[in-house]
Formats: sequence, structure tokens, C-alpha cells
Amino acid sequence: MLSTTIQSANTQQYIDLEEKHGAHNYHPLPVVLNRGEGVFVWDVDSKRYYDFLSGYSAVNQGHCHPKIIQALINQSTKLTLTSRAFHSDLLGEYEKTVTAYFGYDKVLPMNTGVEAVETALKLARKWGYEVKGITENSAVIVVCESNFHGRTTGVITFSSDPSAKNNFGPFTPGYTTIPYNNLAALEKSFQDKNVAAFLFEPIQGEAGVMVPDEGYLTGIKNLCTEYNVLMIADEIQTGLARTGKMLACDYENVRPDILILGKALSGGVLPVSAVLCDDEIMMTIKPGEHGSTYGGNPLACAVAIAALQVLKEENMVENAAAMGELLRSEIKKLNSPFIELVRGKGLLNAIVIKHSNPEAAWDLCLTLKENGLLAKPTHGDKIRFAPPLSITKEQVMECVGIIDKSLQSLG
Ligand code: PLP
Repeated sequence: MLSTTIQSANTQQYIDLEEKHGAHNYHPLPVVLNRGEGVFVWDVDSKRYYDFLSGYSAVNQGHCHPKIIQALINQSTKLTLTSRAFHSDLLGEYEKTVTAYFGYDKVLPMNTGVEAVETALKLARKWGYEVKGITENSAVIVVCESNFHGRTTGVITFSSDPSAKNNFGPFTPGYTTIPYNNLAALEKSFQDKNVAAFLFEPIQGEAGVMVPDEGYLTGIKNLCTEYNVLMIADEIQTGLARTGKMLACDYENVRPDILILGKALSGGVLPVSAVLCDDEIMMTIKPGEHGSTYGGNPLACAVAIAALQVLKEENMVENAAAMGELLRSEIKKLNSPFIELVRGKGLLNAIVIKHSNPEAAWDLCLTLKENGLLAKPTHGDKIRFAPPLSITKEQVMECVGIIDKSLQSLG
């Protein structure tokens, strides 16, 4: 099989334009999209695809969801940005909605996921000094190997992926890294009295959908309580119905002290992220100590309210759970010699490819594309299968057919 495919001249001209004028910080599949609706996207030659990436789980509600787009249109003609120098008539309503939705005292609105992670880290440090009583400038945050929390210089400090870090140093002190899914290591790290928080993903998405053992989340909660350490769940990718629960932490009925959301909080419409926690933590940050020009803007508030409503109105939690179950079991039934394993929860899934050719996962994605399904490899041999949560049973079965056909040509 070829590891490159021939693009139409139309497609190629868009790719060439990007190559020439844009930074080369991504390596996209050679497909150029110009339309999306529900679980589908179309390329510039009007070919239709199932979207099995969903904008890295930002498009949980489906592309261009009519209710979310209507909220965007309505609000965009009224008021889009006030900055936080002034109040808006939507911020309080959004804050009330999102805090009631997840059961926290307060929310701090930001834009991208990594900004929300940075916000959570700042809150944890503030709480560490002002509530826990850690000596100034010595707070430690415990993180996991193979984490992915974003791309700022602060956050890449504690990445274990060399490609995220190489030649971006010097890095920031104050982090201890332990293995994921290892409660003994977590407890050991908590012997340091300067630990303010443990930051983790309930399922490691970018690492290839690494699902921890049952009991891990409960174990984290118990240890954090015992050692007076904040439990910070980064649910930017796992949250908002993606894994078949509203939050992945709901699988063990565990409530993090700090909850980080992003991506699908706007249904893929614009960057909206949020940090939720109770007053004891949130009120440590005072006016002027943190902020963002666009954070909590009226357009984002209107869109996020609609995006949250859609998840519940359209039973996306239940559908993600049922369709995820179906997808994994049907893929397993294919018994392909090229699939080492299928794992995931709800509609956050990955297959691990077993093949002598190290490019096999990329090649398979190219074939899937030819056959009408878009997915992207991560870490070489893993392919994430994460369609929008509105996918139906018939559509899942059609996609399994596409996956089967594509695997057969992997030869
Ligand atoms: N945290 C997790 C778990 C993520 O999956 C991501 C993005 O993939 C981020 C943080 C960063 O989000 P953003 O790209 O919006 O900054």
C-alpha cells in the first residue's frame, strides 16, 4: 500500500497554500474540508466522510449543531465582547448554569483548554499557600507520565513527550511526575508536605486512550482527602458525555476538587474552557490576579449554555455509552490480525495496530479516508475512534464496515 495518496488538483492547491504560508506544526491527513453536519464532514470535492476524530472531542454534539449555531447567530448580532472590565447580561446566567450543571460553587471562564489547565494550576498554588500553608514558592503539583494537558511553556514543563519539549526549555520547577494508574506511587509522592495538588486525566486521551483500572479514581480521591491535596481532573477531552458519562469521574462517583473543561463546552464552535471549584479554592484569586480578555465573553456564554443543553436534551451520555459498546464489540468481532486491541469508554476509543510496517496506522488512516471515514493516528500505532455523540446504530454499523474493508487492504 502507498503511504501517500494522490490528491485531486483542487485539494492539493489548498494543501500547498497552507504549506507555503502556515507554520508546519501539524501533520494533517491530506483532506481539505469545507462543510460539516452532525457526524459528517465534506471535502472540497464534495466527498462525504464520517468524522471519527470530532475535533479531538470538541465536536461531541455534532458539526454545526442547529441549536448551538442559532445561539451563536443570535448573540453575535447583539454583543460579542465586553472584556471583564464591564459586566454582561449573559455571564452571570452562564455561570449559574454551568455551576449548577456540575455542582460547584464557582466557575472561572477561559478560552482554550491549556489556559484552563494553567488557571487550575494557579488556583492550586494559591490555595496551597493561602489555605494549606505551604511555604512560599515551594508548592509542588504531582502529574502523571504520558500526560497531555496542552502546549504552553508552563504545561510542557511536565510533559514526558520529547517532541513536546525538545528545545523549548528552560522549564518551570514545582512538578513531580509519577506513573499513571499507580496509587502506590501517588501515595509516595504525597509524603512531600509541599504537594498542593494532583493533576490527572481520568482517561489519558492523547496517550492513546489509556483507561486506568477500576478503583483508580476512588483511590485518588481518598488519598487526596487523606493528605489534604487537591484533586484536579482534566476532563477537557473526557468530559461532556464523551466517555458515556457526563464526566469520566462519574464512573466512580468521584467529585474532583477542581474540574477542568474545554473543547465540547462550545460544541466545537469557538474556544470556551472553564475551571470549576468551590469557594475555599476559587476565592483565593482576587481581582487583577488572573484573567483573559475573551474569557467569559457573551458570545461564548450563549454558545456554551446551548452546548450544555444539547448534551442533556439529546441524551448524548446514554447514546455515547450504548454506541461505544456497540463499536468496540463489533470491531472485536472483525478478528483482524492487524488489531492488537480495542480499548475505550463510551465514544472515546482507540485501536492499537499490530503490523510489521511502522507506518501501518498512518496508511490505514489514508485508506479509511479513501473509504469515507476520517481518523488520525496518535503515537505511531494507535488510532482514535471518537465520532460525534449523535451517531446512530446504523451509522456505527456502516463505519464498522468501512473499518473492516480498510483493514483488509492493509495486507
Ligand atoms: N487537556 C487535555 C486532556 C486535552 O486533551 C487537551 C487537548 O487535546 C488539552 C488539555 C489542551 O486543550 P487546548 O488544545 O484547547 O489548549
